[in-house]
Amino acid sequence: MRTGDGRYDAVVVGGGHNGLVAAAYLAKAGRRVLILERRDHAGGIAATAEMAPGVRGPYLLHTVGRLRASVGRDLALESHGLRLIRPDVRVFAPNPDGGGVTLWADPGRTADELRSRSADDARAYPEFDRKVRSIASFVARLDAITPPDLKSPTLADAFHGLGLGRAFRKLGARAGRETLRALPMPVADLVGETFERDDLQAAIASRAVLFTAMGPWTAGTAAVLLADSAGNDGGAAGQTVFAQGGPGALADALVAAARNAGAEIRTGAEVTRVTTRDGRATGVVLASGEEIAARAVVSGVDPKQTLLRFLDPQELGPTLVWRASNIRTPGCTAKVNLALAEVPRFGGTDDPERLRARIVIAPGVDYVERAADAAKYRRMSTEPFLEATIPTLADPSLAPNGGHVMSVLVQFAPYRLRDGATWDAEREGLGDLVLKTLETYAPGLSNIVTARHVLTPLDLERDLGLTGGHPLHAEPGLDQFFAWRPLLGFARYRMPVDGLYLCGSGAHPGGGITGAPGQNAAREILADLKARRLR
Ligand SMILES: Cc1cc2nc3c(=O)[nH]c(=O)nc-3n(C[C@H](O)[C@H](O)[C@H](O)COP(=O)(O)OP(=O)(O)OC[C@H]3O[C@@H](n4cnc5c(N)ncnc54)[C@H](O)[C@@H]3O)c2cc1C
Repeated sequence: MRTGDGRYDAVVVGGGHNGLVAAAYLAKAGRRVLILERRDHAGGIAATAEMAPGVRGPYLLHTVGRLRASVGRDLALESHGLRLIRPDVRVFAPNPDGGGVTLWADPGRTADELRSRSADDARAYPEFDRKVRSIASFVARLDAITPPDLKSPTLADAFHGLGLGRAFRKLGARAGRETLRALPMPVADLVGETFERDDLQAAIASRAVLFTAMGPWTAGTAAVLLADSAGNDGGAAGQTVFAQGGPGALADALVAAARNAGAEIRTGAEVTRVTTRDGRATGVVLASGEEIAARAVVSGVDPKQTLLRFLDPQELGPTLVWRASNIRTPGCTAKVNLALAEVPRFGGTDDPERLRARIVIAPGVDYVERAADAAKYRRMSTEPFLEATIPTLADPSLAPNGGHVMSVLVQFAPYRLRDGATWDAEREGLGDLVLKTLETYAPGLSNIVTARHVLTPLDLERDLGLTGGHPLHAEPGLDQFFAWRPLLGFARYRMPVDGLYLCGSGAHPGGGITGAPGQNAAREILADLKARRLR
């Protein structure tokens, strides 16, 4: 299956997890594949770093919960050293005045605990969990397929349409109606019509707006929640799964799988341009000026950069340049990593088991909405929505001689600040705000911090090449969902120039550690290679 002329069958731009997944599938099918990664290691956001002497932890990504099971199986990631840790607890959401909500993997256990606070919520929770799982099972079917060609549907599209229709009917009439009603809803309404306690509503709903610039009252955020539970055992609580050894262990296993299948990986190789001839991609140019020829160029980099930076605007034409420049990438996520001398004490619990998964600082739905509102006006809320993990509790191998790491996602940190403020000047202020906020819930936490590292949306853009600092490569709004991701007419992984493909989070079914866009894209590229559509 190798080209006789020494060209690669495919060069993959960016060794993020999706680029590695796509490359591994292509190489497994006997194709000659080269991955080009700008940084000095592959794995993208999945990296483990030393936070303090002898204490390692997640630098960016903190959980790996949504990795598609078939990706793990097909690429034999366990045999390449990946071990997953699944704590019994999924979420602990403390209240400022003590107490809080715990969501367990077992919905029955969650309901039992809710009973002392609200008998109605305890009754409603298992039913809501079933509803989320049922709708998510349908969304998983959508995720697995290539969105249809709406202009001229193919036979395969018709076949997939039939399959989806069957899956929809299998839901039953009531669940089917509920699916159509729920997907475009604001998540605040979805949880508000089911639960009475605000802290429980927020503990569930906040997952729908993490990594986005949308508040819980934005239409379509229910779809984000349901998509996050698709293809995994998340249910209402969502997943919390760690890679033993930190997220870098996932990167290592994917690198090993890709290499084992025969893919080559070059790091420190920044792609600056995609070369074309007669409207076809012919290869890439590196920052060093080196040219590499390939039959297919597969971009794991975000769609805006892929279309606007890598291609000559003449290739796209003015309409597509305009459409691509309107892909929404309003990065709103920052990260604070803390090395801790000991386990922090949260007012809401004296049970460290509850701290093993996601610790969500979102005591009410309007608290989260107000934080999103501030970002809308390019300010940082003084009461930010945070999601933290202490991975050293679930995986003590990260800190063999004691000490802990707290990985804190800070949501609604706008990429652009108002009144001329810059993130370079505000970076440490953000670190202080996060500590002050955490102090409200875990008094004394500041005193046990031994090191801290703050990454703003601007740092995410500079370090990882994420346009606008958007963690998901493009906003998961209703206008950038399924056949509209990243643009209507280009959701089938094939970009406007023949031979150029998108395989990263900006493609269907979107962001998060799933490997799904990489797996789906590889399927389409292999079909085109087989049909000799790529010369
Ligand atoms: C701080 C943070 C925390 C997160 N936490 C979680 C989490 O806990 N759970 C979860 O499911 N999701 C999380 N996410 C989201 C998730 O990490 C992303 O959706 C996912 O990693 C994207 O993977 P990807 O392979 O599509 O792209 P990326 O990981 O962005 O990979 C793109 C790769 O391309 C490389 N690159 C860029 N430009 C070039 C170029 N010109 N030439 C060559 N290479 C280039 C980059 O260096 C990078 O390695 C988080 C994101 C962020 C930013």
